[in-house]
Amino acid sequence: MKSEMLKALNEHYAIGAFNFVNLEMLKAIIDASKETNSPTICSVSEGALKYMGEKECIAMFNACKNNANVYLHLDHGKNLDLIKRMVDLGFDSVMIDASDKPFDENVKLTKEICEYAHRKNVFVEAELGTLAGVEDDVHSEISKYTNPNEAKIFVEETGCDSLAVAIGTSHGAYKFKGESKLNFEILSEIEKTIPNTPLVLHGASSVPQEYVEIINKFGGNVQGAKGVDENTLYEACHQHNICKINTDTDLRIVFTGAVRKYLVENPKEFDIRKYLGNAKEEVTKYLIEKINLFGKINN
Ligand SMILES: [Zn+2]
Repeated sequence: MKSEMLKALNEHYAIGAFNFVNLEMLKAIIDASKETNSPTICSVSEGALKYMGEKECIAMFNACKNNANVYLHLDHGKNLDLIKRMVDLGFDSVMIDASDKPFDENVKLTKEICEYAHRKNVFVEAELGTLAGVEDDVHSEISKYTNPNEAKIFVEETGCDSLAVAIGTSHGAYKFKGESKLNFEILSEIEKTIPNTPLVLHGASSVPQEYVEIINKFGGNVQGAKGVDENTLYEACHQHNICKINTDTDLRIVFTGAVRKYLVENPKEFDIRKYLGNAKEEVTKYLIEKINLFGKINN
């Protein structure tokens, strides 16, 4: 995982990190990784672990992985005991998110996790700055940009392997009222203070409108959802040091739209494999496009 992230940093592309909550989502991610021949991160939140079961999640990942170049990552670890347990159970990478705490406490907690995880060769992502929005159990009303000078001190003192930065994205489906905009000036400043640290972009779903329309056309009611446009994401990873881009909301939208459409168009169908299998294929197609957007050019 560490060498993959440093390779992405040196060659200016990003590894897609996609959240899964069940077998279909996991298989879609692994299929897309194989299809594009790209390293891919399979993320689970604390909420997803509660839903699937910790041991069940890891067993499922290991069983599905085969020879794919995929990594199991804990997204937004808040609970120190849980993070350490995931390190022990064999995660490739964990995120410690103490970004809601004062700076010194964030440093202290992140350092503790780095020392624990690095003993077992597990990669650690930390976060500095605050993203607004809602993601599973992670909420914030306000956003606060990452301070480039604090970022340097933070990385030196904690020894974290990568850093999630707040540069204008937010969690969830309702990201922007007007045009989506990231603060590339702050990002460039951060890159100057920590040039060797792979950076991570959270809250980076595009919220594709054609899929939102499918949800609404087939009985759903999702209004005003808006994400980060894809040109902005392209710039973030190919012209900056963003090496990992997290996408969760988009996959939920594509999956839900596919299930709704299938059930409306096939009212007599009640074979679960048919509509979940179809949704899995739709998510796989979407992921292939995403990985090609973020990924190594001329891969
Ligand atoms: Zn996030």
